[in-house]
Amino acid sequence: MHTAQDLIVCEHCDSVYRRRTLARGEVADCAVCGAVLDRHQWVSIDGQFALIVTAFIVFVIANVSPIVTLGLSGMSAATTLWGAVIAMWNDGAQIVAFLSAMTLFFFPLSQILIFGWVLWFARSGRRAPWFAQAMTALVSVKPWSMIEVFMLGTLVAVVKAHTYFDVVPGAGIWAFGVLTLLITVFSSLDPRELWTLTREDKA
Ligand SMILES: [Zn+2]
Repeated sequence: MHTAQDLIVCEHCDSVYRRRTLARGEVADCAVCGAVLDRHQWVSIDGQFALIVTAFIVFVIANVSPIVTLGLSGMSAATTLWGAVIAMWNDGAQIVAFLSAMTLFFFPLSQILIFGWVLWFARSGRRAPWFAQAMTALVSVKPWSMIEVFMLGTLVAVVKAHTYFDVVPGAGIWAFGVLTLLITVFSSLDPRELWTLTREDKA
């Protein structure tokens, strides 16, 4: 007898297949419509969890450290992400301030926390409470977490400001750089596999 876990349903045309273990680099396509059914995961659940914990620590460092220090005729001012957001808000750029706070803080943070929550339970093969809602939230939050856009913007700003000020990149900018890499890595993971690796708690 087969359980639902042994079967895989094409999300596009509803064809049903029997699941098999994929080797490194292998991708299973739907024979009917060609959509991707399943791909080999190159990072284990424990590995993914470690990645999320690292991302969380780097996220905290990125948010409390100064992004840049601006120096002008002997005076200098350091600013963190939040310092910049508040300065933009007070400067009348409320929309930019709001969008920066959302895309650089709230969305990446919820991405990290939700993924961490689901993985914490998945490590022991269990489904986290509100598993389905968490999985849906992960998919909808992903496009809004735009740290890489911020990185580009900041680099351009730093290069431009260099004409007028002594600009010293702070620890925060390096932390955001590392965070960009980490988020890119875990965004490439397919959280759908958690549906098959975990089972409902029968408690
Ligand atoms: Zn199909």
